[in-house]
Amino acid sequence: MVILGRQGSGKGTQCAHLVGQYGCVHVSTGDMLRAAREEGTALGIAAGELMDRGDLVPDDIMNGIVAERLAKDDILAAGVLLDGFPRTPDQADALVAMLSDGGLDLAVNLDVPVEVVTSRMMERGRADDTPEGIARRLELYEAQTAPLLAWFAEQGILEVVDGVGAEDEVFARLQAIIDPLI
Ligand code: AMP
Repeated sequence: MVILGRQGSGKGTQCAHLVGQYGCVHVSTGDMLRAAREEGTALGIAAGELMDRGDLVPDDIMNGIVAERLAKDDILAAGVLLDGFPRTPDQADALVAMLSDGGLDLAVNLDVPVEVVTSRMMERGRADDTPEGIARRLELYEAQTAPLLAWFAEQGILEVVDGVGAEDEVFARLQAIIDPLI
């Protein structure tokens, strides 16, 4: 399953609930990049600059990182919850190539309006949550990631979930969509 939504839509929080409930493996490309940055790897350093500007890390790098991760045994056994990937049409194409036929069961768009995510991000105060960084990330989301919603809809696997509300209310909405599929 893929979870989509603007930055600050609560994806990370809901992913933790989803892993707890369904036992799938959470793969967050943002978390992977932040970990690489903390370790001080070459990738982490290069990605860090892009992340601070709110820019996207190039597709070929992201596609390589995700392909490597998806090939691991834990994912083959338990299934994956992809968070933050794909973010561009090129990444979506690469994902299809990485998965076997029918490998993608569901794409959820956790829908939260721009005004709400902006104020949430200002409050959480992550290093890349500067006003410029937030504006840039939201702009890129609308330009590059939002069009993916149409692509997932064409595959017949897109569900839109209202992401405004209490954490457990939003999670209940997710469960109502996922449970009938298992
Ligand atoms: P996130 O935690 O998903 O908001 O990601 C934080 C930052 O990591 C983004 O602003 C991008 O700079 C970078 N990033 C994460 N995932 C991707 C991706 N799939 N493609 C390109 N850049 C990414």
